[in-house]
Amino acid sequence: MSSAPTPIVSNFIRTIIDADLASGKHGNIVTRFPPEPNGYLHVGHAKSICLNFGLAQDYQGKCNLRFDDTNPEKESQEYAQSIQNDVRWLGFEWNGEVRWASDYFEQLYQFAVELTEKGLAYVDDLTPEQMREYRGTLTQAGKSSPSRERSVAENLDLFARMRAGEFADGSMVLRAKIDMASPNMNMRDPVIYRIRRAHHIRTGDVWCIYPMYDYTHCISDALEGITHSLCTLEFEDHRPLYDWVLDNLSIKCHPRQYEFSRLELHYTITSKRKLLQLVNDKHVSGWDDPRMPTISGMRRRGYTPDGIREFAKRVGISKSNNTVDMSVLEGCVREDLEAKAARVMAVIKPLKVVVTNFIEGQTESRVAGFHPQHPEFGERLVPFAKEIWIEADDFSVNPPEGWQRLTVGGEVRLRYSYVLRCDELIKDAAGNVVELRCSIDPDTLGKNPVGRKVKGVIHWLSVEHALPAEIRLYDRLFTVPEPDADKNVDFCTYLNPKSLAVVQGWVEAVVREAASETRYQFERLGYFCTDRYAHLPGKKIVFNLTATLKDTWEK
Ligand code: ATP
Ligand code: MG
Repeated sequence: MSSAPTPIVSNFIRTIIDADLASGKHGNIVTRFPPEPNGYLHVGHAKSICLNFGLAQDYQGKCNLRFDDTNPEKESQEYAQSIQNDVRWLGFEWNGEVRWASDYFEQLYQFAVELTEKGLAYVDDLTPEQMREYRGTLTQAGKSSPSRERSVAENLDLFARMRAGEFADGSMVLRAKIDMASPNMNMRDPVIYRIRRAHHIRTGDVWCIYPMYDYTHCISDALEGITHSLCTLEFEDHRPLYDWVLDNLSIKCHPRQYEFSRLELHYTITSKRKLLQLVNDKHVSGWDDPRMPTISGMRRRGYTPDGIREFAKRVGISKSNNTVDMSVLEGCVREDLEAKAARVMAVIKPLKVVVTNFIEGQTESRVAGFHPQHPEFGERLVPFAKEIWIEADDFSVNPPEGWQRLTVGGEVRLRYSYVLRCDELIKDAAGNVVELRCSIDPDTLGKNPVGRKVKGVIHWLSVEHALPAEIRLYDRLFTVPEPDADKNVDFCTYLNPKSLAVVQGWVEAVVREAASETRYQFERLGYFCTDRYAHLPGKKIVFNLTATLKDTWEK
């Protein structure tokens, strides 16, 4: 990084951990990252990954990767695999094997039997509508289901028969017996098991009952000896249930749950369900479309793991609103690439220049380093010839005041080369400038011209030596900062129709050999990355825009 990375900043979770270690409550810490394999991870998950794995690293503790796979219909191995790839790509490794909540299905069942034996769980056969009605509202206490008074023996029998597949899907549930009058709706006898004949990615058709998330999560944490169970604020109201389950079971470990605020990014969305909708409705090319705020999308776009980790540090951990502008994330990536990306020249909106005083067929090559501050990046030859491409935007017929680029009668320095003067412009029938006739000052190679100052420097490429490239330019995916703020408007209404522009440009021949996912700075244009899938040996060259050089989003 060009600027020093942000030092570790303390936060309320670190304060709790410090106190727990100082008091001897814990000898070392164990955290976990518990994704549901029902989609690809997004930038919000990156924050949670950096928090959980980062704490384990900083405190020499451990962090487990545990899939919360209790909703078989929505989960897949593809998602589970992508999540593992993403965690590793971000630079983290989990403790031991990957864990799955489904590894604990038998134990979870036995704990449910234990609750039932203690009179703390019962089988209920209210219809879902009745259940809703009995639950009450925020201002009104719930009322007890007639099943609440079932005997322990009958509950044990019914629960065993639920497992054995004697009852139809949805016809019965097992509920915790807590408090139907609790002001916390989560405590009004929550469902802890449901009947669902769905094929599970790991247990197949072995189970027709599945435990609910709240019940599963706390027990899984306890079985793994998690010390600090960190989750987002929407689970704050679930904490009493987390504690109730563990307090009432013969399980020694009782992890503590702490909540922090979710990360939200302006101009995008951080919800797997909505991202899935973008994929299913083909608004994007897939989960890893470079416009997606998914980890795989950011990777394909050219974002770096270091840049994303730095971003997670900067946004910090707290309980207050964590809505951040996209420019903060881009800034972190840009700073990382500034020092890491090799620099080459590319022209994305080409305008042809014929150098009238240069000999036809001759090539003159000069050596140029790949990075001004990093000679170890090496160097390459930049060929100059009679015909060159320049950026159309670097020429103006009627330049504004202070223009330092090219205009008729004006001069600019060609990067690594001569000072060039525009003598004449050529227009097509429609009046568009299609070519420039220019001349070089042969005395300006590596030195300033005598008697005049040339301030502007522009990038260029030799027509004969440059290679064609497809360049994919990305803009924000949405046109408004909070596309899903209004519940009555479909967030897709705010999709930016100009979020992708594909242009044919030219690049230096050296990039032909670059592996896929190689990041470059195209001088004066921005950071670009060879596409992970399209950029293949022998195929066309494809670059994705990672970020422009300056923040163009600032108002
Ligand atoms: P989504 O709402 O996008 O489906 P989720 O919370 O349902 O997300 P999980 O797979 O359950 O997705 O999340 C795994 C972990 O990541 C959880 O601990 C969750 O709290 C955390 N997480 C999810 N979204 C964010 C976010 N935007 N900011 C910070 N942490 C998040
Ligand atoms: Mg979730």
